[in-house]
Amino acid sequence: MKVVLENLTKKFPPRGGKGDAVTAVKDFTFEIPDGKLVALLGPSGCGKSTMLNMICGLEKPTEGKIFFGEDDVTEMPPELRGVGMVFQNYALYPHMSVYDNIIFPLGNLKGEEKMTKEQMRERAEKVASLVQIEQLLERKPKELSGGQQQRVAIARALVKTPRLLLMDEPLSNLDARLRLQTREEIRRIQRETGVTTVFVTHDQEEAMSISDMIVVMKDGELHQCGKPQEVYDDPVNLFVAKFLGTPAINVFDGEVKSEKLFIGEDEVLTVSGVRDGKVKVGIRPEGFTYDKSGPLKCKMDRVEVMGRDISIVSKNPACEEPVVRSIIDSDERPEDGTEVATFKLRPGKVHLFEPETGERLRFS
Ligand code: ADP
Ligand code: MG
Repeated sequence: MKVVLENLTKKFPPRGGKGDAVTAVKDFTFEIPDGKLVALLGPSGCGKSTMLNMICGLEKPTEGKIFFGEDDVTEMPPELRGVGMVFQNYALYPHMSVYDNIIFPLGNLKGEEKMTKEQMRERAEKVASLVQIEQLLERKPKELSGGQQQRVAIARALVKTPRLLLMDEPLSNLDARLRLQTREEIRRIQRETGVTTVFVTHDQEEAMSISDMIVVMKDGELHQCGKPQEVYDDPVNLFVAKFLGTPAINVFDGEVKSEKLFIGEDEVLTVSGVRDGKVKVGIRPEGFTYDKSGPLKCKMDRVEVMGRDISIVSKNPACEEPVVRSIIDSDERPEDGTEVATFKLRPGKVHLFEPETGERLRFS
């Protein structure tokens, strides 16, 4: 089922009744496509949880509308929306077995939907097998690892075959290895069930690795949405460019003079169509090629081996960060004792931004 968010705004009254209202979500319009996994991505406090809570009905929007398919659900109570929720802290009932936790949402079905014990068992076994916890059904939550507990929470969210699955930072309480493993599991479960899913995270790598689409938010506003690769390759502003990618994009102070881009004294690229003046220059780590006659000169700091690739860590006074990080094919490794790293730039990996607003300046 597709979900349409139309001009959603959420304002919270000021804490203690004094001062200004907090605008957690601001005029947010977006369509979540049917059957896809969409990641809502942004720094802490940008309004991600507020957004999920409005979609599931726990919070009421101050303005705007929410549609499930063609139905306006803005005023519909949460229990009628057919939404499964998974939270960061698994929120399992500690005194109940895994099995009882999973079937809990089925207990309050009424009328025609009411299920017999056998139907419940069948349903529970199906979702338990989907999330691969069939052997754990008789245990109590405290007898499970964090990853297993989160699987139980996912099974519980799926047991009513929801129209929509919402996950709010579901991996944040897991250690690094389990986080990787569980995110692959979430991707698989989403593919197998085909349930439209919104996955909230502040971790760009997590969002990029499993989503069909990412939605980048900041201060309650949508900055950019699209396929992960498209947003990475074509950011609309400096915030999005910096938020996506590890190592992060390198940002330099630069200047355009007669369609030539300068970083310090170095003329590094022709940038047709850009007005003269100061710019911010974002260069992805993979946007550098090590080249003896390359125009950009940096002071060599060290070389880090990453396997097939190497990372040249160097310094340039125009760079915002203390070091410039470039990723180079290991065949192009500079000779030992090299003091000045000279780089050519790949135009497609260089993005220019307006220094004041951070808006992208396009060139050809
Ligand atoms: P995120 O999930 O992206 O970290 P939240 O949606 O939790 O962000 O919060 C967005 C903003 O709204 C924050 O500034 C937060 O302090 C504020 N906020 C969230 N819930 C409430 C509330 N119930 N009352 C007042 N302010 C709130
Ligand atoms: Mg949150």
